[in-house]
Amino acid sequence: MNQHMRPEPIPFIDVAAQRRRLGKAIDEAVARVLDHCAFINGPEVTALEKALAEYCGARHVVTCASGTDALLMVLMAKSVGPGDAVLCPSFTFCATGEAVALTGATPVFVDVDEATFNIDVNSLKRGIATAKARGLKAVGIIPVDLFGQSADHDAVAAVAGAEGLFVLDDAAQGFGANYKGRKLGTFGLATATSFFPAKPLGCFGDGGAIFTDDDELANTLRSIRVHGQGADKYDNVRLGLTGRLDTMQAAILIEKLKIFEDEIAARNLVAARYARGLGNVVTVPRLAAGCTSVWAQYTIRLPKGVDRDVFAAALKAQGVPTAIYYTKSMHQQTAYRNFPVADGGLPVSESLSEDVISLPMHAYLDEATQERVIQAVRGALQA
Ligand SMILES: *Cc1c(COP(=O)(O)O)cnc(C)c1O
Repeated sequence: MNQHMRPEPIPFIDVAAQRRRLGKAIDEAVARVLDHCAFINGPEVTALEKALAEYCGARHVVTCASGTDALLMVLMAKSVGPGDAVLCPSFTFCATGEAVALTGATPVFVDVDEATFNIDVNSLKRGIATAKARGLKAVGIIPVDLFGQSADHDAVAAVAGAEGLFVLDDAAQGFGANYKGRKLGTFGLATATSFFPAKPLGCFGDGGAIFTDDDELANTLRSIRVHGQGADKYDNVRLGLTGRLDTMQAAILIEKLKIFEDEIAARNLVAARYARGLGNVVTVPRLAAGCTSVWAQYTIRLPKGVDRDVFAAALKAQGVPTAIYYTKSMHQQTAYRNFPVADGGLPVSESLSEDVISLPMHAYLDEATQERVIQAVRGALQA
């Protein structure tokens, strides 16, 4: 590289590397769909649902149009609506609380744990009390497996059990991770995930899935997915959505699922290299006991006094992209700031929003390229 040239930019997520690895498999899968023309509810949709069920051990898998629909459909199936409160962390992607608000129910935002970025059970308990004090009926909890690490599902289940609340796990970033040796998709009443291209298991467009062991819920979800259909398509027994996953995306996901475990292992190697290379200069992510991560993001915290914008600009000048998840927690967003927060406020969410930054992370980040990222981070902190 000529020293006067800008360093070659590194991709934040290398979608092309995975395309090369899968070779013709996806082209052929797509070609089969183009041949049979069953673009909606084709055989690949059922085959994918079966493969996903086998992968994570859930009894039922209902694929759907997005991760947001996955969350919304479960809330609709539970008849969540005005007067109800659903507790969720504030430090998350907006879809978590958005799905609640779309039903007319009230999202009540709770804080997260400083070490794992996942729901803080003490704040959750305070949030339930806050909801009740406001005359709302607390009905459910949506823990999030943020950045790929499973939440503390036993702790959430204990609170849910004591209060009679359902648990809907938002595993949009964490699908593929384990909690105490069991794959996500099998905790709580139901689990929602997303196949948005940037998620650990992504398709080539929008998509999502719901996992549950509850037969009745699965039937209701299959009805909601097609406008609340009853005995047939033109019998409408409840409100629903156009909530289906396209056959084309299902065909693509079947191929991607075959290499998913291997990609998770590769992501874990990348995470371990970051921890070794950066652990003494920034706060690197920590895994709680019993939790694994699929590393949807590799999110570090900058030391106090480091200007994040200056830091990001220094990395960019070295060809290293960064992203900030999330510059604002949900309760700080215009659309959500009038919803309640747990008593005591959400100090951890607010401070994370100020000092987190995410580094390039994907299964195909080779050691030499990653070393450039590590050196760029170390260099920017010395400057
Ligand atoms: C991406 C994401 C969603 C929404 O998924 P879409 O498929 O984009 O609708 C929900 N929750 C979390 C935590 C996410 O990261």
